[in-house]
Amino acid sequence: MSRYERQYARLLDAQDELAPYREEFYLQEGTIYLDGNSLGLLSKRAEQALFDILQAWKTYGIDGWTSGNDPWFYLSESLGEKMASIVGGKPEEVIVTGSTTVNLHQLVATFYEPKGKRTKILADELTFPSDIYALKSQLKLKGYDPEKHLVLVKSKDGRTIDEADIIAAMTDEIALIVLPSVLYRSGQLLDMKTLTEEAHKRGIMIGFDLCHSVGAIPHQLHDWDVDFAFWCNYKYLNAGPGSVAALYVHETHFGREVGLSGWFGSKKEKQFDMELELAQAAHAGAFQIGTPHILSTAPLIGSLSLFCEVGIEKIRQKSLALTRYMMELVEHELAGYGFTIGNPTDDAQRGGHVYLEHPEAARICKALKAEGVIPDFRKPNGIRLAPVALYNTFEDVWQTVQILKQMMKEGRHKQFDNERGVVA
Ligand SMILES: *Cc1c(COP(=O)(O)O)cnc(C)c1O
Repeated sequence: MSRYERQYARLLDAQDELAPYREEFYLQEGTIYLDGNSLGLLSKRAEQALFDILQAWKTYGIDGWTSGNDPWFYLSESLGEKMASIVGGKPEEVIVTGSTTVNLHQLVATFYEPKGKRTKILADELTFPSDIYALKSQLKLKGYDPEKHLVLVKSKDGRTIDEADIIAAMTDEIALIVLPSVLYRSGQLLDMKTLTEEAHKRGIMIGFDLCHSVGAIPHQLHDWDVDFAFWCNYKYLNAGPGSVAALYVHETHFGREVGLSGWFGSKKEKQFDMELELAQAAHAGAFQIGTPHILSTAPLIGSLSLFCEVGIEKIRQKSLALTRYMMELVEHELAGYGFTIGNPTDDAQRGGHVYLEHPEAARICKALKAEGVIPDFRKPNGIRLAPVALYNTFEDVWQTVQILKQMMKEGRHKQFDNERGVVA
């Protein structure tokens, strides 16, 4: 049997130990969902967890804070403990709270301490814009001009960032480094361990945005000595649109006064003393601000149970196999149609998605959607395809490439305009 036949994809699915988990999710009949890196799908466990929290509200009213299976008062901490294993933190180093951008604000407000010559923040020019906006406003709040004090490492090819260039930019003027684990467009996975070592050799604090790696890739945040990290839970972790996010802080920083205080950062037993002096929690919980959004946290209870059951290593292995297979089929089937594989092809540098570049990417994405394949478009010319370990199959990958091939052959994408949609 040839590797390029549907039968071969089916064989891979038959041998896949994670295949049964597809049944845990709500998939639309007749569509192939490859957008789990933007918004993960709903699982039955996540749905049930939300129903359970609503039931607790019905049953207990205010006492839901301390009663029921998942008392709300402790939920951010208990979920943080469960998440710790998938990011390689200690249980008390992770807390479920806020949103990605808000958590970045909180962490920079805490860890950016300009002193003497060290006043600059180092990031990269391909990073997610919200992170750049947050860094600029944090600089302004401390009285620095972002034009001069935000240093962005340049990309040589418009897709990836060379780690050597990042290290070369770690000068004695840099106070803080904030980088993505995986670049949101090209899917490049940065070497967080080495970057952290190099930053620390130079006395610089370093933190990572894990939005595009959490739930797809294992991390060893504590062992790598990463100072802090933050991420959303609605992409690979499937906790729902706008679900509550999370952050990690290395235990060596416990006890440091947080930049943005609020009463949920208190020691639990002191919080309701209502003292005007904050007794800050002695772990990552200190970084919380106000009352947690319980209804937007609830789905994570169910979703995380899947990740804890399967284990992140197995998820990574399947994810790599899916993206490797996709690249192989793209090279074999789509040659001559103008596609370029824009993601790193090496396993050690590849995140959870495949990034195809094409001058007509916008209309190809629209045409794919019309034919039941859900990708996403990223300006200027990118098609992101994320086959997700827990709910996509090798046959999904095979079929997607076949649909693309037929579409290009017949020019069916030409009937769509080549502009991006409002949400793309
Ligand atoms: C998705 C994403 C965000 C989103 O931030 P929100 O505050 O959740 O809107 C931020 N950074 C990166 C790298 C992302 O991929």
